[in-house]
Amino acid sequence: MATRCIICERETGGTPIAEDAVIKAIRAGKQALRMAQNNRLVVCNDCMEGYRAKRERFEKSLVQNIVLGGIIFLGLAIVPIFTKAGFQLGAALVGLLFLLGLVLLTVLTSYSPSLVGGLPKGAAQSSRPGFFGGIASKAAPTIKKGSEKEKAASQKSKKR
Ligand SMILES: [Zn+2]
Repeated sequence: MATRCIICERETGGTPIAEDAVIKAIRAGKQALRMAQNNRLVVCNDCMEGYRAKRERFEKSLVQNIVLGGIIFLGLAIVPIFTKAGFQLGAALVGLLFLLGLVLLTVLTSYSPSLVGGLPKGAAQSSRPGFFGGIASKAAPTIKKGSEKEKAASQKSKKR
């Protein structure tokens, strides 16, 4: 079984991608059409940065569209409850179709599979959790210190 990079399509080694539902569906479709090559799909080292950008774009647009579809769905499902009409199954189903349609559209237009074990450690990735972790670890003591100072200040003012 050959290993093939999903970005440059060269036969090369690299980080294997996760065989998720979308990849399985594509494989099943290719097998049905007798186009299956049954390659082990990887991302090679040369393509890792390009892949990372693509994957992050996909994750971002997927989250955005799920939120958007969720708002449309909730709007159509919940808003009628507060009107004279009451809950409208049809409207709720239309909202659900919007949500599923948006997810499907995202997958069809910008799908990028995940890697086995997630993104390998690189500059972009290691800086991200560090960034948020840094904020969290710095923010927590700062708030504590602030409240302690405030407590101390209020105690001082009480004493006076
Ligand atoms: Zn490649």
